[in-house]
Amino acid sequence: MVEVKVLLVGKHEKVPEGTYANSTITLIRAGEKNILVDAGSFGDKENLIESLGKEGLSPDDIHTVVVTHLHLDHTANLDLFRNADIVTKHSPVSSGLVFHGSNNIVSRVDVENLEIVPGVKTILTPGHVEAHISVVAVTSDGTYVICGDAIQKSNQIDIHVKPEKVWNLEAFENSRKLILEVADYVVPGHGGVVQIKKKSNQSPKRNNL
Ligand SMILES: [Zn+2]
Repeated sequence: MVEVKVLLVGKHEKVPEGTYANSTITLIRAGEKNILVDAGSFGDKENLIESLGKEGLSPDDIHTVVVTHLHLDHTANLDLFRNADIVTKHSPVSSGLVFHGSNNIVSRVDVENLEIVPGVKTILTPGHVEAHISVVAVTSDGTYVICGDAIQKSNQIDIHVKPEKVWNLEAFENSRKLILEVADYVVPGHGGVVQIKKKSNQSPKRNNL
């Protein structure tokens, strides 16, 4: 059984000093496996440890951390996860990488449709940056896409809303379209879960990916 729980809801907003940015951090539990999507910002370390504790977990219990993209507001707490494999796409030309935290080994993997565990996989979602992945998790409630900054905030679920700053707008719009087709629920890079309204003949449970 796959379950998705947002541990920390991130924000991205202008403040007098600049921009306040901390990513949403999402826990996926799939049987014995614990997967985290994004690791949050520097100021979130204690909150993250506390949120995991409420789930009966410590950082050492996380098997995999998927990093949607390598911006600091999504990566700052990776050092907590000493036993985890870190899955990411670090450059446009790489297929993808796994950093095995326990032994410093880096392996190449293809992160286009990479199955992390049955029911949980990564997909390519370029746009915000060129090297960007999202996580698709099929649960009994429907399909979640935890999409990092492929959809940065909940208002970008509306296809008429333009993102503030992106590497490539066309790629962003294609990725957003893909996510909205697949998802019953979207977890943006900086926001909480949003339920996607499907056309009348589609019920969430019939959406098989
Ligand atoms: Zn971000």
